[in-house]
Amino acid sequence: MRTQVAIIGSGPSGLLLGQILSGAGIANVVVDRTRRDHILARVRAGVLEQGTVRVLDQAGLGARLHNEGLIHDGFSLAFDERDHRIDLAGLTGGKHVTVYGQTEITRDLLDARETDGMLSLYDVEDVVPHDFDGERPYVTLIHDGKPLRIDCDFIAGCDGFHGASRRAVPPSAMTCYERIYPFGWLGLLAEVPPVSHELIYANHARGFALCSMRSLSRSRYYVQVPAGEKVEAWSDQRFWDELRARLPRHHAEKVTTGPSFEKSIAPLRSFVAEPMRFGRLFLVGDAAHIVPPTGAKGLNLAVGDVHYLSEGLCEHYREGSEAGLEAYSARALSRVWKAVRFSWWMTTLLHRFPEAGAFETKIQLAELDYLTHSRAAASMLAENYVGLSY
Ligand SMILES: Cc1cc2nc3c(=O)[nH]c(=O)nc-3n(C[C@H](O)[C@H](O)[C@H](O)COP(=O)(O)OP(=O)(O)OC[C@H]3O[C@@H](n4cnc5c(N)ncnc54)[C@H](O)[C@@H]3O)c2cc1C
Repeated sequence: MRTQVAIIGSGPSGLLLGQILSGAGIANVVVDRTRRDHILARVRAGVLEQGTVRVLDQAGLGARLHNEGLIHDGFSLAFDERDHRIDLAGLTGGKHVTVYGQTEITRDLLDARETDGMLSLYDVEDVVPHDFDGERPYVTLIHDGKPLRIDCDFIAGCDGFHGASRRAVPPSAMTCYERIYPFGWLGLLAEVPPVSHELIYANHARGFALCSMRSLSRSRYYVQVPAGEKVEAWSDQRFWDELRARLPRHHAEKVTTGPSFEKSIAPLRSFVAEPMRFGRLFLVGDAAHIVPPTGAKGLNLAVGDVHYLSEGLCEHYREGSEAGLEAYSARALSRVWKAVRFSWWMTTLLHRFPEAGAFETKIQLAELDYLTHSRAAASMLAENYVGLSY
């Protein structure tokens, strides 16, 4: 089989890249080791920057997003039995974020790909990118029990943190930076109205908590748990009790509880692999970088990467210019590191670290208090939260 761009991974990065390339008349094939129904069952990100919404709009994916997405122009920081609203719109000249689940974006992308008749291969095994340092790269895999080779001009490694693309790069060609946090997020999804129409980020002596939502009738809540915690140890009742214990009383009293229909633990990690281009192989999204979800940046960074790479590929096929492809890694990494810094800062500000003593706790509370009194400090938070421009 031959195509122009072989895309490994059918998450938001791979599907969005495929959608933009197809729109520009560039042939592509998406391959994924997972089944389609499993991809649609994954519950992950939900806060979209304006730049992300613009890229999705340009790719023709805005209809349901604008119909069902919730516009948020602020959120609350809760600590010390009080909460303070960060006025995103007021601090950034009218900018906001949109709450629309990653599951919904993935559904929209899969539907669009199928409507356009673009080829995707699911449930494949042993995906390996080859010869990307030469002129004729190709991908091998097992599909329906038979070996398949996809010859291509370029390979896009959109296969997440545990994928095959980054692993195919010789370690000597890559530098990795990593911080693993000593805790994770236990998340619960329930068909109950959210406690507030805006997100609440809570710093509490018992640990961090986040109140978020997927819609006006579906809530997504998180509590910080120690690394290695088992989800089986958390009944719904235990989760609801712990969530309420970490919120200021006026919020805790208003939490509507109900049976969960998804509960999982996500470990927290910061990770960056540099560079993001190796000859004709490009790493995109989680394949190249991971951020803790505190700043709501993982999905948004993936969309930023796709934006830069699709520009470079379109330029290559339209004008024969290599400039965009040559600039891809530096442009993406410049944005990535700012989001890595912001996500690390939000995580450090809001979580209780096991090794932290009374001094560190006082510093956290002083910084939170500073954010409530200084417009300059709050503006830094708001500007990063709504997303740096690209
Ligand atoms: C549990 C969890 C919760 C999260 N919560 C948030 C959040 O609240 N906010 C936020 O901003 N971000 C969050 N994220 C991060 C966000 O979901 C990711 O940044 C986003 O999914 C990145 O998209 P991607 O397409 O690059 O990678 P992925 O979504 O990981 O997609 C990669 C795809 O590649 C496929 N694949 C993997 N290995 C192979 C292989 N060897 N061969 C072929 N295919 C392969 C996978 O099946 C998958 O479909 C969360 C992530 C996780 C795991």
